[in-house]
Amino acid sequence: MINFGYARANDVTDAVRQITADPTAKFIAGGTNLIDLMKEDVERPTRLIDISRLPLKAVEETADGGLRIGALMPNSDLAYHPLIERRYPVLASAILAGASQQLRNMASTGGNLLQRTRCYYFYDTATPCNKRAPGSGCSAIKGLNRMHAILGASEACIATHPSDMCVALAVLEAKVHVTGPSGERVIALADFHRLPGNTPQVDTNLHPDEIVTAVELPAQGFAANYTYLKIRDRLSYAFALVSVAVGLEIEGEIIKEARFALGGVAHKPWRDQAAEAVLCGQAASADNFNRAADLLLRDAKGFAHNAFKIELARRAIVRALTQAARGTPQSQSNKKVR
Ligand SMILES: Cc1cc2nc3c(=O)[nH]c(=O)nc-3n(C[C@H](O)[C@H](O)[C@H](O)COP(=O)(O)OP(=O)(O)OC[C@H]3O[C@@H](n4cnc5c(N)ncnc54)[C@H](O)[C@@H]3O)c2cc1C
Ligand code: SF4
Repeated sequence: MINFGYARANDVTDAVRQITADPTAKFIAGGTNLIDLMKEDVERPTRLIDISRLPLKAVEETADGGLRIGALMPNSDLAYHPLIERRYPVLASAILAGASQQLRNMASTGGNLLQRTRCYYFYDTATPCNKRAPGSGCSAIKGLNRMHAILGASEACIATHPSDMCVALAVLEAKVHVTGPSGERVIALADFHRLPGNTPQVDTNLHPDEIVTAVELPAQGFAANYTYLKIRDRLSYAFALVSVAVGLEIEGEIIKEARFALGGVAHKPWRDQAAEAVLCGQAASADNFNRAADLLLRDAKGFAHNAFKIELARRAIVRALTQAARGTPQSQSNKKVR
C-alpha cells in the first residue's frame, strides 16, 4: 500500500495554490485514468487534489459565435449537449466512439485531454519505458508494437495518444484555457500535446502547476459535412488502431475548406495542412482524396507489428473524406443510447 494524501480544492485559485505548494501532487477529476495508473504503480502522487466539484461544468456561448466548455464537463453530457449535437457533431461522434457509457459518465473534458498512452509497456513496471522511467529504454520499438505510432515517433518513444475526443478537437481548432500561478493563458489544441522527441515523459505543454479550466470551440463546426471514423479491433470499448475526424465546407461540387486529423497513429492528433490544401478548390473525388491521404502519410514509418496501419490509415482517410463529402457520417449508431 502506497500512502497518499487527499484534499478538495475550493475553487480554481485554491487548486493552483495547492498544486504549486506540492509539486508531487496530482489533480483528480473523474479518476478513470489516474486511479488505474496508481493501482499499476505507474503514477505515485503523494497527494490527490480533488477538482471534481469545481464549477467548471458549463457549456456557454462565446461572443464570436463559438462555445466554451468547462474542463469538468463529463464526456457523456458533452456528447449529448444539444449545442454540440447540432453544431459540432464531429465532436459528439468522436466522444461516443470512446470507452463505455459508464466511463464517459465519469470522464471529464480536461482529463480526456490529459489521459496517458495505452502502450502496454508503460503500464508494466517490470519493463523499460522512457515515458515512465526516463533513460530506461523503449520496450516497444523491438517488442509488441501493434498499437503504436507510424508518424512523429522518436528513437526514445513510439507511443500514441489514445483520445478520440482530441482528434475532433484538432479538426475544430479548439483552444485550451489554463490557469497557473502567473495567471491565465490559452494554448491552441495543435500545440497542447507534444511529440515524444528526447523527452517522452512530457506529454503536453501544460505546466505541472497549471489547471485546465475550459476548452473553447471556434464558431465553425462543419455540421453539414463531417465524420468520425474509428477503426479498432472490436466494435466498441477498444482504443483506435486508426481514427479519422473530418470537417469539410463544400459549395456545389467544390471543396472550399478541408480539415482532417488522424488518431491512433502518433503521440498527438495528427493534422497536415499541406495535405488539406490539396483538397481546397477541388472536386470531392476519390482521386483527390487519395492524393491528400498519400501526402499526409508520406513520412509514415511502420514497425514489426504495425506497418499495416499505413495502408489502413490511407483507406480510412479516403473513406472518411468520402462519407463527409456525401453528408453521410458514420459512427452514428451510438447516438441516443443513454
Ligand atoms: C477501459 C477504458 C477504456 C477507454 N477507452 C477509451 C477510448 O476508446 N477512447 C478515449 O478517448 N478514451 C478512452 N478511455 C480513456 C478515458 O476517456 C479517460 O480515462 C478519461 O477521459 C480521463 O478523464 P478523467 O476525468 O477520468 O481523468 P483523471 O483520471 O481524473 O485524470 C487524468 C489526468 O488528467 C489530469 N487532470 C484531470 N483534469 C485536469 C484538469 N482540469 N487540469 C489539469 N489536469 C487535469 C489528472 O491529474 C491526471 O493526470 C478509456 C478508459 C478506460 C479505463
Ligand atoms: S513506446 Fe513510449 S510508452 Fe511505450 S515503452 Fe516505448 S517509451 Fe514507453
